[in-house]
Amino acid sequence: MVDNALVLFSGGQDSATSLAWALDRFDAVETIGFDYGQRHRVELECRQNFLSHLRASFEPWAEKLGEDHPINLSTLGEISDTSLTREKEFEYLKNGLPSSFVPGRNLIFFTYAAAVAYRRGIKHLVGGMCEADYSGYPDCRDDALKSLQVSLTLGMGTRFVIDTPLMWIDKAETWKMADDLGGRKLVDLIVEDTHSCYRGDRQRRKAWGYGCGMCPACDLRQRGWDKYQARRNATN
Ligand code: ZN
Repeated sequence: MVDNALVLFSGGQDSATSLAWALDRFDAVETIGFDYGQRHRVELECRQNFLSHLRASFEPWAEKLGEDHPINLSTLGEISDTSLTREKEFEYLKNGLPSSFVPGRNLIFFTYAAAVAYRRGIKHLVGGMCEADYSGYPDCRDDALKSLQVSLTLGMGTRFVIDTPLMWIDKAETWKMADDLGGRKLVDLIVEDTHSCYRGDRQRRKAWGYGCGMCPACDLRQRGWDKYQARRNATN
């Protein structure tokens, strides 16, 4: 039996690393991505570039990498008032959550992914959510996704497994995982072709990639990169 997976691939560092993890582990891998009216379209462009460069430079993985499923979820952007979908500055709200939180986003993404996986006969749903070093989104938590795995399995009458390879590791370990899976070539591809910056900045290029260098997403990416480099230098 072919062990297959569908990866939620947004074009960011975490989902790109999770995609590499899936390609290393499964026989056949497909990708799904959501256009939910993100303010910064660059994420969607990065996602296409990453996929085509991955296909071109990683031959054994290219053979396993199947169809990409782009899904239009513009209604999600219409009903959620957040700094990712509206012209609003990033801030922390009274409930302690960042203004970039799109309520239920990962629950919706996984539910759509399961519907596609059901049709394609795919068992594993893979996402780059992380509870150890995250932005405070409740739908990134392990318990939320475990309960969703049960709901999807029961509700569709098919066994689904939600895999979150980054759940308990920090951003430095995420860079290290990419290095272990695909070496320097994969790290370079993630630096160049993935996007994290909340402001959508693709003008300023740092050692860790493109971004404004000041928003929480850039800050997290930069701190992870610095720690990864420090550990790397210490072991070399
Ligand atoms: Zn930024």
